[in-house]
Order: sequence, then structure tokens, then C-alpha cells
Amino acid sequence: MAMALTCHQLGLKAQVFEAVSEIKPLGVGINLQPNAVRELIDLGLEGLLADIGIQAEEWALFTKSGELVWAEPRGLNAGYHWPQYSVHRGYLLMGLLAAVKNRLGSDAVVTDARLTGYKNIENGVAAEFTSLDGSTHWVNGDLLIGADGIHSQVRKQMHPNQGQPNWGGAVMWRGISEGLPTRTQNSFVLMGSMEQRFVCYPISKPDPKTGLSRINWIAELTLPTHESATQSDWNSAAEIEDFISPFNHWQFDWLDVPALIKSADAVYEYPMVDRDPVDHWVEGPVVLIGDAAHAMYPVGSNGASQGIVDARVLGAKLKALGLTTDALLAYQSSVLPAVNELVLRNRGAGPIGILGVIEARGPFQSIDEVISTDEIREFMSAYKEAAGFALSTLNTSPKTIKD
Ligand SMILES: Cc1cc2nc3c(=O)[nH]c(=O)nc-3n(C[C@H](O)[C@H](O)[C@H](O)COP(=O)(O)OP(=O)(O)OC[C@H]3O[C@@H](n4cnc5c(N)ncnc54)[C@H](O)[C@@H]3O)c2cc1C
Repeated sequence: MAMALTCHQLGLKAQVFEAVSEIKPLGVGINLQPNAVRELIDLGLEGLLADIGIQAEEWALFTKSGELVWAEPRGLNAGYHWPQYSVHRGYLLMGLLAAVKNRLGSDAVVTDARLTGYKNIENGVAAEFTSLDGSTHWVNGDLLIGADGIHSQVRKQMHPNQGQPNWGGAVMWRGISEGLPTRTQNSFVLMGSMEQRFVCYPISKPDPKTGLSRINWIAELTLPTHESATQSDWNSAAEIEDFISPFNHWQFDWLDVPALIKSADAVYEYPMVDRDPVDHWVEGPVVLIGDAAHAMYPVGSNGASQGIVDARVLGAKLKALGLTTDALLAYQSSVLPAVNELVLRNRGAGPIGILGVIEARGPFQSIDEVISTDEIREFMSAYKEAAGFALSTLNTSPKTIKD
């Protein structure tokens, strides 16, 4: 959707083909980092973000015994020129979809159109789409942009030997519950160990009467095996009994983990999966963006943010070089090396890898016996730099697409 809106901004004609027959607000919460928020604001979507999300104020990390390891301001509080937003993934998608239909026209989004293959033709590319009733049709264009996620068919054709997604040995159960925000009204809280973690953050403003917000949470366990390890579906329902028992004693005066889990309307399960980096995302007039290009372990809250940034960098190259393979290759050169490195870095657990460092040095009475504040700060800064949202780099970088 961000790519379609970018094409519209550039005056390019674009059509989105979506496999499902009805687009629904699936998923739970995600955080949009300031680098992606900046791009959405440049697309004129500030109002949408303010409507559906809340600005994150703080990121705080705790041990499994509830001891604070690190807390840092986020978004505007940290000095970024753009906020960080916590949003419901589905509401973001529906808001972007509405903007696409509004700006590009309602026929710009074609549903029940699963891409099943593509071939190069003179002056462009032809893509084949299959509907649920089994009928197929071909569409020709100058370019084909594969934004079809971790199970991308475009990527599969480009890299036929890539195999299945890699399972990182962990499973995440996700839900949204009503609850009191903890610490600030908008804190992102992460606690646990490398084997067992819990994340929660509000994705709505507190109700003025009850003070309750919609709290997004993720409970994560490392497991020896898992039956659906290489599956990954935003909407795979699960039972609380499957995972709650190791979290039952995670009750603190500032956060009651089992109570939050038990009050969720529904729980979804998602295995920790990524794909091995590939050395190219371009084949003639065909290019990959988002998870299709670089599905990564969701340990740094930045997969969707990176997808949005991809769309904007690709847009900048199309603006400079036209609808050409050279433009696609220029996008690939500017994004691929750093993002492939980030995919591998996320296998080392991303910013929460610091928990592993601390555990390896334990036991301790107080954190500062095993790690200094400077070492934690350096660890966190290195991740933000790698993920493209280091404060000074982002604040001083020019607009991706100049007016
Ligand atoms: C637990 C968890 C937490 C996360 N938290 C964050 C976070 O806080 N911040 C963040 O930035 N990211 C987060 N992410 C990552 C983020 O959700 C993904 O990176 C993002 O959804 C990728 O977007 P995408 O558009 O590339 O792919 P998707 O969101 O997977 O969308 C792909 C689309 O393509 C369609 N499609 C698939 N195949 C075809 C086909 N053959 N033809 C036509 N259409 C097709 C699908 O139906 C879907 O609509 C998280 C991920 C997980 C699992």
C-alpha cells in the first residue's frame, strides 16, 4: 500500500493485486519506527497515524524477576523529529487501503488475484494471477513489484532453491487485552530471558472513564520442536493453555502478566521465522520489497517499518531513473547490504540480545555488578544504527523523495 501511494505521488499508474478475496484488519499491534513514520507523514498520512495509534514514549527492558535493566525515551521524547507510533497492524492496513482507493481509484486494488508466475516480455513484464475459482489471467506492466510477504511467490520464482523459512526455535503468542498502561501511558515493556519473554505496549489512548487502554502483548517461548514451525499466518488462532503456565508466576506490582494474557479476546500464534538473505532482489523489470525481500525475526520492531522505507527508496530511484531496471538496481544497492546484515543481526536476538549478555554474566544482586550503563547504551545504539533509525543519522538525512 505504501508503494502504491508512492507511485501515485510520483504520477505513476499502479495497480495492487492481492491474493485474498476480502481485505480484513488482521493481526495485532506493531510499532512504527520514526524512519517509517517520517515516510508516512511525507505521504500525507499524519492524520491516519494520530487516529489509529499512539505515540510511543519509552522502551523499557526488565529481567525475568522484574528488575529494570534499561529504559530509554522513544520517538519525539528521544529527540527524533518524527514520532514512533504503536498501532494495530490491521487498522494501519485498512487506513492505507482507504488512502490508496481514495487517491488511485477503487479499481487500483484487485482482490482474489494470487500471483502465480511472471515472465519477461518486450518492454516489460507479464504477471499471471489465479482466482479462487481456478481461473487465471495475465496482466502486463513496465515493472512488477513483489510485496507479497514471507511466502512470496515472486521471490520463489526469482530464487527457486531458497527452501522453507527458517524457524528460530521460538513461538510467539499474541493478543490484545484491556488493561492499565504500565510505567508511562505509552511505554513499550519487554521482560524475561532469552528462552522466555513477554512484551506489552498500549495501542490506544486510555479510556477517559476507566483509564484502560488496549494493550498489545506477545508471550514468547523457546521450544525444542514445534509442529507448525515453518508456517506463518497472521491469523492462526491458539489456546491460552498452550503457553500460559511458564508465565503464571510473572506477577509484579506494576504488571500482572497472567491476568493480561487471560483477558485477551483472542490469541494468535506465530513461529519465529525468517529467510536466509539472498544476493539479489531484482530480475530485469521485477523487484522485491518488504518481507518478500528480507523477512526477519521480529525482535527489533522494524520489519514493517523497513517495508515502508523500501517503498520510498524505490520510489526515489524510479523518480530519478524512470521505470527501468537501473532504478531497481539502484534501490537494491542502497537497501540490500544493510538490510541483509540486519536479518542476520536479528538472529542474534536484536536489541533484546542484551538479556543474553547479562544472563551469561550472572548471577547478580544488582544489574550494575555485571554490566555498565555505557555498555547497554552502546548495544542499543548499534542496533538502531543498523536498523536505519539512529537519531542523528535520521534527523539529518534529507527527505527520501524530495518535493
Ligand atoms: C510477532 C511479530 C511482531 C512484529 N512487530 C513488528 C513491529 O513492531 N514493527 C514492525 O515494523 N514490524 C513488525 N513485524 C514485522 C511485520 O509485521 C512485517 O515485516 C510486515 O507485515 C511485512 O509487510 P509486507 O507487506 O512485506 O508483507 P505482509 O504483511 O505479509 O503482506 C503480504 C501481502 O501479500 C499478499 N500475498 C501473499 N502472496 C500473494 C500472492 N502470491 N499474490 C498476491 N498477493 C499475495 C498477502 O495476502 C498479504 O496481504 C512483526 C512481525 C511479527 C511476526
